[in-house]
Amino acid sequence: TKITDYIQQANGKTLFSLEVIPPLKGSSIKELLANIEPLMDFKPPFIDVTYHREEYIEQMLPDGTVKHIVTRKRPGTLGICSSIMHKFGVDAVPHVLCGGFTREETEDFLMDLHYLGIDNVLVLRGDPAKPYKTFKPKTNGHEYASQLVEQVANMNKGQYLHEGVEALAPTDFCIGVAAYPEKHFEAVDFDVDFEYLKQKIALGADYIVTQMFFDNSKYFEFVKRCREAGITVPIIPGLKPLSTKKQLSVLPRIFYLHMPDDFVKAVEACENDVQAKQIGIEWCTQQCKELMAFGVPVLHFYTMGKSENIYKIASQLY
Ligand code: FAD
Repeated sequence: TKITDYIQQANGKTLFSLEVIPPLKGSSIKELLANIEPLMDFKPPFIDVTYHREEYIEQMLPDGTVKHIVTRKRPGTLGICSSIMHKFGVDAVPHVLCGGFTREETEDFLMDLHYLGIDNVLVLRGDPAKPYKTFKPKTNGHEYASQLVEQVANMNKGQYLHEGVEALAPTDFCIGVAAYPEKHFEAVDFDVDFEYLKQKIALGADYIVTQMFFDNSKYFEFVKRCREAGITVPIIPGLKPLSTKKQLSVLPRIFYLHMPDDFVKAVEACENDVQAKQIGIEWCTQQCKELMAFGVPVLHFYTMGKSENIYKIASQLY
């Protein structure tokens, strides 16, 4: 089922959903599944599974020489999607990246998703492959998410890369894209970034998922901007409850977001992480209540391997 259909069928009721990260290579999937199982109480219609770039690592050998390795620390997105659908009967939404793929590889990956019965994809450019600081597409790969949106939208019309060579049965993906209420960190200003978001929608994106935020006014302003610009697609807020004191400085640094003063003061006053986690739960619950009153279609939680605090939040809302 398409996410846009779930939203329509919900008739104004706010749905609950989550995002999971594949475990480190070699780890069991059991822990991930056990971790999210309690959250099924809140009937998520869909669960996102992130995709992770390859990393370039230098390994020092005993003889002192350096070996260059390309490795992926968190592979398995597709397998996890399949397990989630199988175990929970819930739609899985794989994240599909520009980075690390040629257009042909992307086309084949999307065919795998199509045959697996996956109806939704979250289309992203992807982060730079570590340790690089800037994003570089693979030769004949996409540089921006908008180009990948266009490729998926073309496949939905039965237009594949090499017309006349392959069969042309259309796919029918519902396409999600990312957006940043507080601006993507590379963009010179919000307006420039916003123009590119409009491009992703114009090329066929069906819904938006936002970067996490701790200040609801940033989301409300962003939705207003979108609606004024004629963007009518659902705008799903992404949420992450703070769970350690350290995250007060880490999250703004990684995700370029503003932490409201009241929240900063409350977390700074905590003596330990147990207290900080509790403040994180309370703050996020309050955010969710306001967002529900505003009429958001879905509350989308970034679990990052933890579900206990999200369970506590959701049980106060659903
Ligand atoms: P784009 O929309 O391509 O934008 C990237 C930058 O380029 C922006 O600054 C934009 O303003 C600019 N830009 C866009 N189009 C053009 C153009 N035509 N010309 C010039 N500049 C342009 N990363 C992962 O690696 N794996 C994941 O699973 C993952 N999941 C995510 C889920 C969500 C909900 C979010 C919000 C982010 C996620 N990310 C993930 C991170 C994401 O890949 C990075 O934030 C990445 O840097 C940007 O991705 P994007 O799709 O927003 O890129």
